[in-house]
Amino acid sequence: MKKILIGTHNKGKFKEIAYLISKKYKKVSPESLKIKSPKETGKSFRSNSRLKAKFFSKYVKYPVISDDSGLCVEALKNKPGIYSARLAKKKGSFFKAMEHILKKMEKKKNRNATFVCNLSFKDYGKKIISIEGKLKGKISYKILGKKGFGYDPIFIPSKKKITFGQMSKLAKIKMDHRFIAFQKLKKKIKI
Ligand code: IMP
Repeated sequence: MKKILIGTHNKGKFKEIAYLISKKYKKVSPESLKIKSPKETGKSFRSNSRLKAKFFSKYVKYPVISDDSGLCVEALKNKPGIYSARLAKKKGSFFKAMEHILKKMEKKKNRNATFVCNLSFKDYGKKIISIEGKLKGKISYKILGKKGFGYDPIFIPSKKKITFGQMSKLAKIKMDHRFIAFQKLKKKIKI
């Protein structure tokens, strides 16, 4: 069976990416190979996603896929953006990071936000392919729902009335920024 290394230690992301890749692939995690994640030194989703794919591809002789993703809130100058995971670390948890964002949004009229996912695929000995998926939505007024991961409970995708945290996992996986990025990637390669 063909293998693919999904370059992330984030369990929520791993599950989503694994679901989106063909059943023909055995999905390998960095944990199972005892590989840690590299430092995210890039200044954009694209540079961080490429940096991760490059890093993980040094360890295996089969394809690697990595992403860098995050939540960009318009009224907060597109923050936390590439710092989404780091904000949660700084605040102590995702719950606290969501509370922090909601507090900052208290007096803001503009609640527009975008989930961004830059996906990088690197086959052994080949160049990296990077593509980006974006999903627009709004920041809710409360933390709503317990499903999903990360900032899901404060993000209401456009044309929907509930947060990703309230939505079934499958419904979310089939419409989010990672799914959109995958649709684009599937036009370039078989995966
Ligand atoms: P990184 O790409 O490893 O830097 O982590 C991205 C961070 O963005 C995650 O830890 C989450 O905080 C957030 N994030 C990315 N995608 C999603 C999603 O689909 N739902 C909720 N939060 C997300």
